[in-house]
Amino acid sequence: MKEGIHPEYKETTITCVCGNVIETKSTKKDIKIDICSSCHPFITGKQKLLDTAGRVEKFKRKYAPKAEVAPVTKKTTKKA
Ligand SMILES: [Zn+2]
Repeated sequence: MKEGIHPEYKETTITCVCGNVIETKSTKKDIKIDICSSCHPFITGKQKLLDTAGRVEKFKRKYAPKAEVAPVTKKTTKKA
């Protein structure tokens, strides 16, 4: 390895909001994550969404009306 061009790569911990701490190596220090391998819904089988900033609600509001309208036929057979 060349000197002086590589970022510092050392031991650090990834802390999940569920309390799980993963030890790893990274150029970053004290990484914080919202979901990890031990609290992911796929592994736990439970629905667990951490909606910190109302993002899910925003998403629903934005796309729900469209989704409801979608099945309605677009073809309005109008003849000129
Ligand atoms: Zn977690």
